[in-house]
Amino acid sequence: MGYDVTRFQGDVDEDLICPICSGVLEEPVQAPHCEHAFCNACITQWFSQQQTCPVDRSVVTVAHLRPVPRIMRNMLSKLQIACDNAVFGCSAIVRLDNLMSHLSDCEHNPKRPVTCEQGCGLEMPKDELPNHNCIKHLRSVVQQQQTRIAELEKT
Ligand SMILES: [Zn+2]
Ligand SMILES: [Zn+2]
Ligand SMILES: [Zn+2]
Ligand SMILES: [Zn+2]
Repeated sequence: MGYDVTRFQGDVDEDLICPICSGVLEEPVQAPHCEHAFCNACITQWFSQQQTCPVDRSVVTVAHLRPVPRIMRNMLSKLQIACDNAVFGCSAIVRLDNLMSHLSDCEHNPKRPVTCEQGCGLEMPKDELPNHNCIKHLRSVVQQQQTRIAELEKT
C-alpha cells in the first residue's frame, strides 16, 4: 500500500501515484515495456489474480518487474510528507527518504519507550504510561521477589 496523498505538501506528480491503491508509490517497481509503476506490495497482490499490467492489460509477470529509474526514486525521496504520528500530535513534515529515521525517534510515537519519572523507573511504551501506577508496579515486583525467595527457601 502506498502513502496517502493527503499526507504530502503540495501536489504530487501523477507519475508517482500507484494506479492500484491510488497512493504515492511505496517501494516502487516498474513493468518493463509500458513503464507503469506500482507499489511492490500492490502489484504482488495483483499478480495473485492475474499476470497483466493493471493499467493496459499487457502481459507482465513478477519476473519482468524491475526497479523504477533513478530519476523517479529521486522525485519520490524529495517529496515532503507528514509524520505517521500526526494524529498523535506530531507536526513534523519530513522528506520521504527521511521518514523512517524520523519515525524511529518521533516523540509522538505512541509505542516509543519512555521511562516512568514518578519514581519506579520502569520503561514502557508511551501509550501505557497514563494507565501506569508505580505502587501497583512495585507491589508486583515485590511479590515476584517474595515468590522467588520462597522457592529458594524450599530447596
Ligand atoms: Zn500501491
Ligand atoms: Zn502497463
Ligand atoms: Zn513525528
Ligand atoms: Zn512508575
